[in-house]
Amino acid sequence: MLDAGADGVVVPDAVALRDAVVAATEAVWADRLARSLAESRAQGRAAGVDCAVERCVALTFDDGPDAETGRLLEVLAEKHATATFFVVGRNVAARPQVARAVVEGGHLVANHTWDHPRLTTLDDAAVRDQLERTQSAVRDATGTAPTFLRPPYGDVDDRVRSLATRAGLRVELWDLDTQDWRTRDAEETRRRVAAQVRPGSVVLLHDIHGSTVDAVAGIVDDLRREGYRLVTVDLLAP
Ligand SMILES: [Zn+2]
Repeated sequence: MLDAGADGVVVPDAVALRDAVVAATEAVWADRLARSLAESRAQGRAAGVDCAVERCVALTFDDGPDAETGRLLEVLAEKHATATFFVVGRNVAARPQVARAVVEGGHLVANHTWDHPRLTTLDDAAVRDQLERTQSAVRDATGTAPTFLRPPYGDVDDRVRSLATRAGLRVELWDLDTQDWRTRDAEETRRRVAAQVRPGSVVLLHDIHGSTVDAVAGIVDDLRREGYRLVTVDLLAP
């Protein structure tokens, strides 16, 4: 019977065990992210911003910090407007003072990977490296770590989402694509925002293009004329 009993011993399935650990870790991070987001929104409401009742819009600028980012910060400061910057880690390492100025300007800094790859084409270790190197670069430059990730090209799947969550990052895409990188035309970029914006919109722009920076003052004026409140993505209603 002893032998039979030995045969019947349940050996923990290593794969099932690993999956259980991953799921538990992910749940802890997802909970932490949800709480940090709820906290941001509560702070927003305390400061008089409630996107559940107001018409909010989030301008987002990808791929910097770059040569044009400083000029964009001046435009936003002049307009008393806030935005979200999805920064590329290696650009932060090259221009840490600009990344710091983004945060000091009251904007939200977010993760856009280390060097802009298609994340779904990378293995787990390489994805983690892209996210964590960028987190470190931003933390070193600004003293704060991002809680949002925008995958380059919007290229994301369940595996990348899970890896992002476990790196403490919530995936944030967009609903209004200005195609500013394609047209490189300030008037056209401004026109597209005005034509397509709706309450809760997340507007995709790129601060590496001078034509985009040229469009921003007009975009802010147009949105405010329509009663929109400009917010960072953490303040948008769920
Ligand atoms: Zn990008």
